Amino acid sequence: MLLNRLLVLLLSVLAFNSCMKQTSQKQFTNPEDANLWPIYTPASTQWKLWSPEAEQVQLLLYPDGTSNQAIARHNLSASESGVWSLTLEGDWKNTYYTFQVKWEGEWLPETPGIYAQATGVNGERACIIDHNELNPSDWSDDAWVKLEAPNKAILYELHVRDMTIHPSSGSKYPGKYLGLAEKRTKSPQGLATGIDHLIELGITHVHLLPVFDYLSVDEERLNEAQFNWGYDPQNYNVPEGSYSTNPHDAAVRIREFKQMVRELHRHGIGVVMDVVYNHTGRTEDSNFNREYPEYYYRFEADGRYSNASGCGNETASEKPMVRKFMLESILYWAKEYHIDGFRFDLMGIHDIETMNLIADTLKAINPSAIIYGEGWTGGSSPLAEEFRAVKKQVSRLHGISAFSDDLRDGLKGSVFEDSSRGFVSGVFSQEESIKFGVVGSILHDQLLYKKVNYSDTSWAVEPWQSIAYVSCHDNHTLYDKLKVSNPNADEESIVQMQALALGIVLTSQGIPFLHAGSEFLRTKNGEHNSYNLSDAINQIDWNRKAEYLHHFQFIKQLIQFRKEHPSLTLPNAGSVRKSLSFIDSEAGVVAYTIASKQGNEPIKKILVVYNAKRETAKLKLDTKYQVALHGLNPGTSQTGTSSNTFVIAPKSLLIAVTEK
Ligand code: CA
Repeated sequence: MLLNRLLVLLLSVLAFNSCMKQTSQKQFTNPEDANLWPIYTPASTQWKLWSPEAEQVQLLLYPDGTSNQAIARHNLSASESGVWSLTLEGDWKNTYYTFQVKWEGEWLPETPGIYAQATGVNGERACIIDHNELNPSDWSDDAWVKLEAPNKAILYELHVRDMTIHPSSGSKYPGKYLGLAEKRTKSPQGLATGIDHLIELGITHVHLLPVFDYLSVDEERLNEAQFNWGYDPQNYNVPEGSYSTNPHDAAVRIREFKQMVRELHRHGIGVVMDVVYNHTGRTEDSNFNREYPEYYYRFEADGRYSNASGCGNETASEKPMVRKFMLESILYWAKEYHIDGFRFDLMGIHDIETMNLIADTLKAINPSAIIYGEGWTGGSSPLAEEFRAVKKQVSRLHGISAFSDDLRDGLKGSVFEDSSRGFVSGVFSQEESIKFGVVGSILHDQLLYKKVNYSDTSWAVEPWQSIAYVSCHDNHTLYDKLKVSNPNADEESIVQMQALALGIVLTSQGIPFLHAGSEFLRTKNGEHNSYNLSDAINQIDWNRKAEYLHHFQFIKQLIQFRKEHPSLTLPNAGSVRKSLSFIDSEAGVVAYTIASKQGNEPIKKILVVYNAKRETAKLKLDTKYQVALHGLNPGTSQTGTSSNTFVIAPKSLLIAVTEK
């Protein structure tokens, strides 16, 4: 195989030397209009690189992604816009390459170029590919999932390796893209795992922790167990190699990534990518700096790299060519890989104008696209906050949602203090934070905003602008947090607290977001920041699905109920204010009713009660309701009974509906 490729390359080079010519360069007055992606056809390939202050730019061609010497070196031609380019005639498919930029008299280290679409092992060299050859056979039938409104989504945040690396997943492709595309996998107890589990649970979108090429896992040593979340970006437009079955062959990771998307889409599950444009894994030696030193970053007044990411640098989205790069990268993933949505890591670092440009452009091609992010930073930024996409400026963002840390910590306590507890763990000063989460962080006249933990007013204009969640990959899992903050609670109580917390998330008018495995009490053995810890900590142990089957079934029922009752996903703030009324309740209890007509649904009133107390709660209403869901313990359930008086079990959630 390698020999064949070497031969083809050798012939190509000979052909080039004898009859190829450099075609004339198109002049771009404005680099923002330039197409900087490699352009492949069987007849020729065009390479470009924007670096207006470079003294010289060269292209190096290689037979493979890592070891052998360059087989050719070509100069790129400069243009007034700073775009350097080169067209070589002939078929350059499967040729690996790098660029090298001469800067202040020195050659910078080689780079695959920031617009590389394929790379060899460890992302060191780019590769020319023909995308059409790498598509699954029925890719033309594949499409983005349709989403009527953002809060119809039920997000499930997972790490590709975590999902299938434990032997209990039963996967033939542990830790790989293909593992997530694998049907009919079972746990030792015979329960569905992997994609079958996702279908059974009923979530609508998976949210994948970084799957672009990142730095920290050595793709040459995949026979050794290595783990990283992947928040150290290297090649933004290339799938990560360690999740492929062969990272040496540039085509394989692309083919397998698309197979994963295809299989998820086949079952109606959308794919959201966690994107990390806010910083790069390396700083001085990043691919950005190997191309045009310092342009892509922000700096402090004294010349140091600023560090709002907490990772050593922050990018400068407000600069035109950074903005262009982010926008085109997003559109590339959306169009080429059919990605349904994007979660922006530390979105508060990016400027509002760039985020709005991305959202407007993406939604123009896919109105169902879902866009959300962390509305905060990991440190201070030199760009004034008024320009940045932070949580309190969500109203200025176009169709972009932000995570509600108000609800997250209101439910379980601060993520930064182990002992801190929240509503579900018996702290009865957080009721307003819970209500705030229920309405989707909007204005509602029954809320006392002064008592909401981090916000003294609404920050969302519409409920779907708020992501309702209680845990994610960061910090403790919900189960570990509840255990560490409630050292005297027995296991049954912890499980009840977890069900109540997830129940509140799944009855919020915002977009519910679940951390993978939280439906069966996932644990990281008490670890906080597990970004580079072993599989033993991070993996999902599917044996727990059988162990906590009653909890899993409860979460599944909640998801089903949410989907069947549009009143839980009202389209706008006006309908929430009109339809949702909180009932005056004792401390430790939050209760409300929703009365709204949605679509063809008959006008039904829904009653939702959260009882966080250790004792039962009693509630008497004017109307009779029939209990649809009540807590975890079937013994306490009044499911199916119709009454206007309710006794709600300790630490549990009750949902009831009127008969018509
Ligand atoms: Ca990598």
